[in-house]
Amino acid sequence: MHIVLATKNRGKLKEFNELFSGEEIISFSEILGDIDIVEDGSSFRENALIKAREIYKRLGEDYLVVSDDSGISVPILNGEPNIYSARYAGVNATDRENLLKLVDKLKEKNITRTKAYYTASIAIVSRYGEYSVHSWMYGDVITTMRGDGGFGYDPVFIPIGYNQTLGELDSSIKREISHRSKALKLARPIIDMLQKKSI
Ligand code: IMP
Repeated sequence: MHIVLATKNRGKLKEFNELFSGEEIISFSEILGDIDIVEDGSSFRENALIKAREIYKRLGEDYLVVSDDSGISVPILNGEPNIYSARYAGVNATDRENLLKLVDKLKEKNITRTKAYYTASIAIVSRYGEYSVHSWMYGDVITTMRGDGGFGYDPVFIPIGYNQTLGELDSSIKREISHRSKALKLARPIIDMLQKKSI
């Protein structure tokens, strides 16, 4: 079975390829072109499953589809932006616009640093059924952007145990501690098992 990732997000695709080193992971858009999937679930898990199911339905039984739905939550903002992380500043907002909206919301409350966490839900859909796993990365968000590594909210996120943002830290550190890499470590044995079944 070919592994296809249900994302167009270049940042995620790059991270998945690093985490799956040795195997070829392609984005669904290389096969299906540019399709939009309405993510109208009410949780990361639901949205991850919506994406994976839709791509699997279009690609068929020879494919194992892996999707990730992820985002950042800030408790002092009642958990915002949560599942709306990719469209916090509007449906077609850029990563930078979303980040600036988060920074503005914190500044409005005179907050310069507060707790936050990233969530990643990974869904796997294949002819053998559906699976999902989750993981988290905890830390703080700050209101000044530091570094240009990573993507999305990384320039304002300082993981627990570090003094630098994910924008400043080496990508090898993010690979070890991120919500996505930890979720993928949980997903990996499931993916391996499903691939063996198909031999
Ligand atoms: P999704 O593609 O619908 O799952 O949206 C995920 C959004 O959450 C991205 O557009 C980013 O804004 C944010 N996000 C998720 N994971 C990360 C990360 O590792 N770093 C920075 N931002 C992230």
